[in-house]
Amino acid sequence: MKAPRFAYARPATLEGALALLAAHGEEARVLAGGQSLVAMLNLRVAAPRVLVDINRVPGLGEVALGESCVRIGALARHAELERSELVARHLPLLARAVRHIAHPAIRNRGTFGGSCALADPAAELPACALALGAKLVLRGARGERRVAAGEFFRGLYETALEAGELLVAAEFPLPGPASASAFGELARRHGDYALVGLAAYAQRDGPALRDVRLAFFGVADRPVLAARAAAVLEGRRVDEATLARAVAALDLEPRGDLHASAATRRRLAGVLLERVVKELAQ
Ligand SMILES: Cc1cc2nc3c(=O)[nH]c(=O)nc-3n(C[C@H](O)[C@H](O)[C@H](O)COP(=O)(O)OP(=O)(O)OC[C@H]3O[C@@H](n4cnc5c(N)ncnc54)[C@H](O)[C@@H]3O)c2cc1C
Repeated sequence: MKAPRFAYARPATLEGALALLAAHGEEARVLAGGQSLVAMLNLRVAAPRVLVDINRVPGLGEVALGESCVRIGALARHAELERSELVARHLPLLARAVRHIAHPAIRNRGTFGGSCALADPAAELPACALALGAKLVLRGARGERRVAAGEFFRGLYETALEAGELLVAAEFPLPGPASASAFGELARRHGDYALVGLAAYAQRDGPALRDVRLAFFGVADRPVLAARAAAVLEGRRVDEATLARAVAALDLEPRGDLHASAATRRRLAGVLLERVVKELAQ
């Protein structure tokens, strides 16, 4: 199929992009890497009147170290995150996760902001943002606001972004020296969306883990924290008995679909929990 007719604008400033989005509201759609949106247009799942291409807006692709956070610009490509020394040093979870996204050609174009704004429930980066307690920075005609990842992802392809707003960046708090992260996903083939995935973060306290955050993806309509399983691990040494209790406490209710039944997904979530938490504790 061919995409429906649309007008195309490529503003050269952030103000220009925001003015277009404000003027066209629900009828406008942001074009970033185009790796999801172009397919949606061709399938006619999306039919915006106006595409606002943000690729020429300066400053949106920066990855920068601040005093208390790493700021990742919305236009940072997946491939840039994969190669970034700053990301590898301060946000190793992101560096690990991004290699699981699709294939190099898609990672060369796809953007951090596009992945978060799309909010596919099986996507890696939204789960990392949740595990690491990131804040999403949204800019609109009325100014800027920050939304915690836990409130930004609202449901299936649904976020806190309002018509006229642009996701400009995400701010990841700088992890302390005792922090640890680990990542795992199970997919039919490398590069496919995950059947189930887990982005995990904790503080190491001797042999025990504290502040455990287990962000599962592919198991609900958005990335979710498995709070009961994390509570079992909290303050305890990670051994086989504790892991078994954490798996038993897993508070997930995955749905079955064409790719896997609900029971398979629950089982895979348990397998991942064991693998990823063992790595977290090493
Ligand atoms: C074959 C294939 C396999 C893939 N596998 C994976 C995978 O395993 N894991 C994964 O996570 N992704 C996967 N993807 C998707 C890929 O990561 C996309 O790049 C990403 O989901 C969207 O990013 P984009 O920059 O291409 O956004 P676009 O396609 O340009 O836009 C996606 C949506 O986000 C909106 N949007 C984009 N940027 C902004 C912004 N700054 N502010 C507000 N709204 C915005 C757009 O309007 C649109 O609705 C795959 C894609 C393909 C084609």
